[in-house]
Parts: sequence; C-alpha cells; structure tokens
Amino acid sequence: MKRLSVLGATGSIGHSVRKVLADAPELYQVEAVAGGRDAAALAETARALGARFAALSDPAGGAALKAALEGSGIASGAGPEAVMEAARRDADMVVSAIVGCAGLAPTVAAFAPGRRVALANKECLVAAGAFFMAEAARLGTEILPVDSEHNAIFQALASGPAKAVEKITLTASGGPFRQKSRDEIARAKPQDALKHPNWSMGAKITIDSATLMNKGLELIEAQHLFAVPAERLEAVVHPESVVHGLVSFIDGSVAAGLALPDMCVPIAHCLAWPDRVATSCRRLDLVALGRLTFEAPDEARFPALSLARSVLGQGGVCATILNAANEIAVAAFLEGRIGFYGITEIVEATLDRINGGPAPASVGEALEADQLARRTAAALLPKFAAKAS
Ligand code: NAD
Ligand code: MG
Repeated sequence: MKRLSVLGATGSIGHSVRKVLADAPELYQVEAVAGGRDAAALAETARALGARFAALSDPAGGAALKAALEGSGIASGAGPEAVMEAARRDADMVVSAIVGCAGLAPTVAAFAPGRRVALANKECLVAAGAFFMAEAARLGTEILPVDSEHNAIFQALASGPAKAVEKITLTASGGPFRQKSRDEIARAKPQDALKHPNWSMGAKITIDSATLMNKGLELIEAQHLFAVPAERLEAVVHPESVVHGLVSFIDGSVAAGLALPDMCVPIAHCLAWPDRVATSCRRLDLVALGRLTFEAPDEARFPALSLARSVLGQGGVCATILNAANEIAVAAFLEGRIGFYGITEIVEATLDRINGGPAPASVGEALEADQLARRTAAALLPKFAAKAS
C-alpha cells in the first residue's frame, strides 16, 4: 500500500484530506501527520488516520501530545525539527497544508526522488517560487496543485501542448465584500471578513479572500507552477465558484475545470493522480444552478490585486516581502489591531521600505527576506493602528 504524510493535518485542508481518505481508505497508509499548536487535535487526527508518527511544531505541547497518544503505538515529537522529520519520513505522497511561509522548509524537506507533493500551501510558491520549482525538479519530485483554481488549470492544460497556451484564467469568488462600498469595506471587522460566501477555510486564507490578496497570491502561484509569463495570467470574479480555472489555446478553444466549491474534489484528484478515485462529494447540477456569472475585479476597492500584479511583473524578492508583510498584517487585523484596508496599506508600505533584490535561491535566503519583511511590517503596525481608530 502507498504511504501518505500530511503536514498541516489539523487544519481545514487536513480535514478535507481525512474526508477523501474516509471515502477511499484503500488509497494510502498514513505515515506521518504534523500540526502547529493543538496537541489534542493532532492526537485525535493521528489516531483517526492510523498514522505512525505525529509531530507538533510547538515544543511546549510535546508532553500533552505524548500523553494523548499513550497506548496508541503512535510515535510523536515536538518542535520544528519534529515537523521536518514528519516531512522527510518515507512516503509516496506528502500533502503540504501548513499555513503561511512556515510551510516552506518542511515542504522542501519532503522533496525526494519519485515522491509527489500535493501542494495546498501557496505561500511556499509566493515566497520562493523559482527556487521551489527548480529544487523539486532537481530532486525528481512532482508537484501537484491542490489549490482549486490551479488544480482545475492543471487538468485543463492536459488538453494541449504548453506552446499552444494563449492565456490562463483564475476565477475569484469576490469574497464577502464583493458588493460592498469602499466605506463599508473600510469599517469591516474580522467577523465580517471571516464570512466567506462559498468556501469554508482557515482564518488566514479567508481574510486573504476578502481582500482579494488570495487571488494575487494565486497569480504568483500560477506563474511558478505553470511557467507562464505574467501577461498571460488573468483573474476574473465568478461569485458562484463553480468554474475554477480556464486555459485558452491559440485556436480559440478554452478548456475549463468545473466542480462545486469543495476542496475534497481537488484533493481527491491529487491523491489518486494519474488515476481517479470515487468521492462522496456533492455533484454539480448545472440546471439547478441555472446561471453562472462573471465580472471584472474592482482594483479600486480591492487594491491587493494590483499590488500583487506589480510584484508579479517585478519578480525578484518582492513576492517574498509581499507574502511576509501580508501574514503580519492579516494577523494584526484578526487581532483587531488594524482596520481592513490597513492590511494592503501595510503590505504596500513594507514593499516601499525594503529595497528589491534577486529572488531567493535557497530556503535560508527566503526565510531571511521573510524575517526582514516581518520585522518591517510589525514596526509599521502602530502607525496603522492609529489610523484605524
Ligand atoms: P488552517 O489554518 O485551517 O490549517 C493550518 C494547518 O497548519 C493546521 O493544521 C495548523 O496546526 C498547521 N500549522 C500552522 N503552523 C504550523 C507550523 N509552524 N508547523 C506545523 N504545522 C503548522 O489553514 P487551511 O485553510 O487548511 O490552509 C492551509 C494552506 O492551504 C494555506 O497555505 C492555504 O492558503 C492553502 N489553501 C487552503 C484552502 C482551503 O480551502 N482551506 C484552499 C486552497 C489553498
Ligand atoms: Mg484557491
């Protein structure tokens, strides 16, 4: 039986992986699971999946994890090195679903000849995309995109050769503020921004979906995954979240990937690839849906998208900085320390303060730039806190 490890097993993607495996237990034996701080949740996940090893990133939770796993025969470890061990353990497939740049080092540690990585963690590609893809290729590791848009595009790309691709389109739901005025958006509180219309996801990506930074990060993700230049990438708002991604070819044909908004669908695709596996997910019923709508994104109300676009064009270390500043700003917004537009303002101000430079050529270089940008963004918080109140 093939073996699977899941990094970020207690999160939203981790839960969807569990659902897919519940439908198809014959697919994998679970080798390792890793999580952040919640020892009880990680122990429960490890037991439910029959994992052999559980790793908690927070060293302080090690004793609680061990106690919760007593009698199960599941080995455990705590601290960042334990998470790296979970990534390195022998497995055919590793799901990368830690949130944020924290997922970069463990995901790269999972690269090994013949292994597949089902990549949900888009921040890896934003922070160090060129290095990440080159390193995966160098080590003979296949990257399969879990992110719904990229998964749809990955499937659509099979319709023609790379040289015949004219344009790649990612759709965006538009988030909870699609129809709100700039003033209303400016007053939005975390609980408003956390109400995503279509998807149920972790807090960070839900805020990114409200600012549309998520789509910006995804354009950068697509640039690296599919090796397409910035000018061939576009984002279109599609509130129903049914058409996830499209590939336009030079003959005028367009191949698209459709599914109801449920992460189990792209996860099942990656776990079974190149085969297919049956899932119990709800099926798409076009007649019941009646219509699908599309509109241009409004970059005046959602400046994150233009910010990400400018970074996409510039290349170099800018994307690493954008990603780190965004992580700091989103956390500050969730803690009620800054207003909603403070998020993109802090990202912009951080990009202004740090000189560009070449794209990171190693995990170490990416983390160094990431730390510098985090410190810079954190130092800016008081200024934007004052503006918000
Ligand atoms: P989440 O917050 O629900 O889960 C994050 C997981 O990472 C948890 O298991 C948490 O314990 C773990 N974690 C956090 N820091 C860690 C660390 N330092 N070491 C080890 N584990 C750590 O997030 P999510 O919504 O599941 O998203 C995970 C990733 O997948 C993100 O990068 C997100 O952008 C991407 N993604 C998510 C969705 C979705 O539907 N949720 C869709 C597309 C892409
Ligand atoms: Mg997505």
